[in-house]
Amino acid sequence: MTRIAKFCALCGGPLVMLRHSGRVRPYCSACDTPVFFDPKVAVVVFMERGDRVLLIQRAIEPGKGKWALPAGFVDHDEAPEAAAIREVFEETRLTARIGRLLAVYPNRDEGLADIVIAYSATVIDGEAKAGDDAADVGWFKREALPPLVFYPSITLINAWRAGALVR
Ligand SMILES: [Zn+2]
Repeated sequence: MTRIAKFCALCGGPLVMLRHSGRVRPYCSACDTPVFFDPKVAVVVFMERGDRVLLIQRAIEPGKGKWALPAGFVDHDEAPEAAAIREVFEETRLTARIGRLLAVYPNRDEGLADIVIAYSATVIDGEAKAGDDAADVGWFKREALPPLVFYPSITLINAWRAGALVR
């Protein structure tokens, strides 16, 4: 969810809304320049072992107590694949190797990101153990899934259950 700041990050001056470059945007009168707010980008990772998918249980809101694929924000100076490997490790203590780009999702629910990039990955080292904002972590079969949260995770899992996930 992109938030628009009230003040210019460079000079601290107040921002006003002004038509510039084709739409109404925040504008700093002191710097005499438009201020561009960029989408928050997240990554989500689909990993399988045998006939099971790796899910983490959310320790915090939104979606506290529900389950989702490992995911997190891409840092401003980070490659998406590197963010995916980092987030998998932070949440599950597993070392992953990124496979394919699966999809790019716009924000369609209460998720925190504006754009979500989905990858498949394989485990190359470690044992699954909850870390960071994960309360628990587990490998789940198609017919025994826990309550899920977030549009990208739900969409990917539904495709997987239907045998329609190319990975
Ligand atoms: Zn300014």
